[in-house]
This record gives sequence, C-alpha cells and structure tokens, in this order.
Amino acid sequence: MENTYDVIIIGGGLSGLSAAHFLRKMAPERKVLIVEKSARVGGAIQTFKQAGFQGEWGPHGFLDNTEESQELLRDTGLYQEAQTAPLGDFYRYVCHHGQLVRLPQSLKTVLSTPLVSPLGKLRVLADLWKSPRPGKMAIGEWVEHRFGKELLPLVDAAVTGSFAGDYQKLCIDAVMPGVRKLEMETGSVLRGLIKKKKSGDKKLKRLPSMLNFPEGMERLIKVLNEKQAVTCNTLVQGLGRDPEGWTVKTDQGELTAASLVLAVPVNQCLQLLSAIKTPPLACVPVSKIINVVLGFSGSAKVPYGFGYLSPERENRFTLGAMFTSHMFPDRAPRGQVLIEALVGGRRHPERLVLSDEEISERVLADINQLIDLPEPPLLIKVLRPEHGIPQLEMDHPGLLSWRKSLEEEFKDLHICGFGWDGIGMNDMIKSAKKTAMAIQTGAMRQDDEAKVKPVYF
Ligand SMILES: Cc1cc2nc3c(=O)[nH]c(=O)nc-3n(C[C@H](O)[C@H](O)[C@H](O)COP(=O)(O)OP(=O)(O)OC[C@H]3O[C@@H](n4cnc5c(N)ncnc54)[C@H](O)[C@@H]3O)c2cc1C
Repeated sequence: MENTYDVIIIGGGLSGLSAAHFLRKMAPERKVLIVEKSARVGGAIQTFKQAGFQGEWGPHGFLDNTEESQELLRDTGLYQEAQTAPLGDFYRYVCHHGQLVRLPQSLKTVLSTPLVSPLGKLRVLADLWKSPRPGKMAIGEWVEHRFGKELLPLVDAAVTGSFAGDYQKLCIDAVMPGVRKLEMETGSVLRGLIKKKKSGDKKLKRLPSMLNFPEGMERLIKVLNEKQAVTCNTLVQGLGRDPEGWTVKTDQGELTAASLVLAVPVNQCLQLLSAIKTPPLACVPVSKIINVVLGFSGSAKVPYGFGYLSPERENRFTLGAMFTSHMFPDRAPRGQVLIEALVGGRRHPERLVLSDEEISERVLADINQLIDLPEPPLLIKVLRPEHGIPQLEMDHPGLLSWRKSLEEEFKDLHICGFGWDGIGMNDMIKSAKKTAMAIQTGAMRQDDEAKVKPVYF
C-alpha cells in the first residue's frame, strides 16, 4: 500500500463510498483512498438471504425523492435495476387499541380515521392560533403544544419507524428544521403549509416510492465499490496534523493526505477527533434494533401494505413489522410471505440481550395477535445488526455548530457520515456530495436552507 494520497476517506460505508464516487466524478485525477476497518465495505448495509427469502440487516429501502441519490443511481446505471414500491400504492398500519388500523392517506380518510377522536381532530386546527415557542424542544413537547396530545401515538409510530427513537428525547429542531422554520416564519405549521401549497410547491403533491434492488441493498454497495481504491481490514486508530496535511494512524501503518474525510458514524468520529480538539460531548445516544426475519407459507393472512408500527402506549414486544414481500414480491419464494419484525430501539435496550429463542417466541406471540398466521413460520432468523442508529437529540444542534467551527479551522477536514446530517441513506448521499464539492472547490460545505420534509411512516 502506498502511503501518500490527495484525499483519505475513513469509513467504507455508504457515506465514504458515495463521497469517493462524487469526488472521482468531479476530479478523476485525484488520488483517493478509502480506509475501512472491516473485511467488507458497506457498513450498516448488508443483505440477508436464506431458503429463498431475502431480507436486510440494515436499510430496507430509500425514497426516490432526493436529487443526489438520483444522480448516484444514474451515474452507476442502477436506476434501470432499481425496484420501486410507490408509497401511494400501499397501506400503512398503526397498532391502535390492539388492532391494525390503516393510516389515512387522503383528506377524506383523515376526517374519518378512528385513530384520532373528532375533538382531537379539531384540536389539530388550534395550530393556526398557537404562537411558536422559541428554543430547542423535544418532538413530543412540540407536537403536544401545536397539535394536541392525541397525535402523540402517531408521532411515536413515525419516530419509531425512522429512528427507532423516543419522541420525548429527539429534538424537533434537529430532526425537522424545515418545519420549525416554517412555524417561526408563518406563526403556524398549517398556515405555512397552506401558503406553500397555494404557491404551487409541487414537492408537497407527489408521494415518493421506496427503492431497493433485486439483489438487495448490497447491490448498491457492490457497484459503488467497483471503481474505488479501498483498503479493508485497516483500523484507523488516531489522527495527526502538521503543516503538510493529515497523518492517519492505522493498525497497518501510517498514511498521509492533503485532505481528510471522516465518513464514520458520529460516535467513532468524535473519538477520532478528540485527538485534534475536545468535542462538546463524548458520545451521542444510539438506538439498536434486532430484525426478526419471518418466512411464512401463503396461508399467512398479512394485510396488504408496507407494514405496521406500534406506539409505546400499546405496550407490545415488537416495535412494528415490514411486510417485505408486499413491497418487493421476489423477496420470498412464489406463494410465500416475508415479514421482518423489529425489536428493541431507544426505549427497550433490555430486549436486545434476550436469547434468540425468547425473541422469536415473543415476536411470534405478539404478531399472531395482530395478523392471522395459521401455520408456524417456515423460516425464523434473528438478525442482530452491529450498527445502531444515532439519535438526533437535544445536544445535536450544538454538535453541528462545533463541527462547523472545526471545519472552518481546518479547511482540509471534512466530516460526514451516520448521525451528522441525518440518519437515512438519502441524508448520507446528500452529505457525501456536499463533502466532495467542498474538497473540489476549497470552500466550506454549503448548509442547505432548512426545507419542509414530509414524514412518511
Ligand atoms: C438497523 C438499521 C436500519 C436502517 N434502515 C434504514 C432504512 O430503511 N432506510 C434508510 O434510508 N436508512 C436506514 N438506515 C440508515 C442507513 O443504514 C445509514 O444511513 C447508512 O448506512 C450509514 O452509512 P455510513 O457510511 O454513514 O455509516 P456506516 O454504514 O456505519 O459505515 C461506516 C463505516 O466506517 C467503518 N469504520 C468505523 N470506524 C472506523 C475506523 N476507526 N477505521 C476504519 N473504518 C472505520 C465501519 O466499519 C463502517 O464500514 C438503517 C440503519 C440501521 C443500523
């Protein structure tokens, strides 16, 4: 292995591979190396296959509503391969008083849904008169203030579906800065949305589709990795800085680079950066989940849709489940059904240490009360992803300011990766492109104007 590079990227997950892709596209002459500690690239992204069933250890899909991800798919030729599951074509369910109830998808169904009482629906309209409260706030407190208590279980379900998080801890200003801005500017979220609609904001109209690939999410990693210089089995243990640039200390020796990209999850990043400057906090909370892959014969009466989520107040063992073979039918042998159930999350780390047998038993007992499953599963596999989901809680805005000041001080240091600019795949790809742009132009990463992002369960 040579040891001097123009750019070293630490971390060979989606963030590192995407940053390398965009850099290569912008400046193919640059010498770029990705340093990855594991034997494989991809980080949290890994596909599971057994007995004709295909699930995922990590992400199950990403929405087709982000420009940078679309660019990546076009560049790699993966657009043609991608499988889509349009959100508008599938029902989504919430567990409500022990039963699966469809989430409303149109104004008519919003008005008739049993998920919120008539009084609760009227209370939502009070948002028009509630004055914005300044300062950072947890999502739960903010929703209760603007829309009333009755929406909390639905918000809980949405937050469980994205962060496996706790809505009383996640920070609205970090998770939905665009909505908060709209509220501050117009005095009301509803008024702001109506104004946007009137001004013809088309993005509010179309429901996006979920994307994956016939070979699973790993396909994206495989294709991204094809043209990159990567050294696997190389753990970065420390960083050094001198007037020439950066020294990357690995368990395989030292490397040097003019520019450095940290594309590792936020906590590993803080650990490495502490050698350069003391971070404002040692680590951010991480939510870990277990995915139980369940293959059934066609006798399983799984309601048509993407899946369901369970708010905490329902007091169930399983956080929710994806009806994977409805979204992507080839994930199960013909006539059979694949469900993937999630356990644990921010509020139930104690469940992560249970044995596979106990988890399987309790998940089955739980799901059996909600879905008619006349026969035992043909396949049951408990997947324990090593990676957790970083939580954007109350310290997050401060952490972003600290990153900004660090990148201002060290113009050749670039920080992206899991838990900085969000947690989803689209967030990673977007942040990776900004990182590549910053290296290419020598300017600071451009912060986006905070936009209103719709919430999809
Ligand atoms: C269980 C789970 C489910 C998810 N579901 C979805 C979903 O449905 N949709 C969605 O959009 N997103 C989902 N996500 C989020 C998505 O997986 C992440 O956005 C994305 O994979 C993060 O990529 P990354 O490269 O930033 O981090 P990672 O994937 O964590 O990759 C970081 C890489 O850095 C390496 N590394 C770390 N430290 C060092 C070091 N010191 N030296 C060298 N290498 C190092 C790691 O080995 C790893 O390969 C999910 C995540 C999890 C964990």
